[in-house]
Amino acid sequence: MHIHIFWDSLSPPGLQIPVTRQISSILGMAATVSENHVRMMGYVDGRKQIDAQVLLDSIQAYKHRHAMKDPLLLVVHQDLFKNGNSFVFGLARQSVGAAVVSTARLSNEYYGRGGNDDDLIDRITKEGAHEVGHLLGLDHCHDRECIMFKPDTLDELDRKKKVLCNICSERLEGYLSSD
Ligand SMILES: [Zn+2]
Ligand SMILES: [Zn+2]
Repeated sequence: MHIHIFWDSLSPPGLQIPVTRQISSILGMAATVSENHVRMMGYVDGRKQIDAQVLLDSIQAYKHRHAMKDPLLLVVHQDLFKNGNSFVFGLARQSVGAAVVSTARLSNEYYGRGGNDDDLIDRITKEGAHEVGHLLGLDHCHDRECIMFKPDTLDELDRKKKVLCNICSERLEGYLSSD
């Protein structure tokens, strides 16, 4: 198995390689990154946000057309929402191995603080590894430092460490070896 990451051209440039390496190391699996080939869909003018479910439909269609079985994570710069949530950092559709992460709310600048590439790399890595973790079969975890903890705020995201807790790590090993 192999993680594919698509990076939309307006997402922060120059961070693809460190993010991809770190996601690969957290999940213990090869990962590659390339420019985005998925058609961007779901933008809602009135909200200036993308409906994450519609974008997942588009990723699903792309994967189907290309008979891609491996997990695919799309990183976009636009803000995401889903039905019932004013925003989401990311969203995964486990049944088809498709996930999306937005960088819109992950920069310090969004919160009026000074920009920092290391913070941004950390956050995209944590969000990306979290969503791909869902694609690999993992659910949310109560351990606030685990990658599979669901953060509602940037501070909760920052408090997480770039590792799976022992329980999630063992579960993942189990899923991967049963394939
Ligand atoms: Zn989650
Ligand atoms: Zn965990």
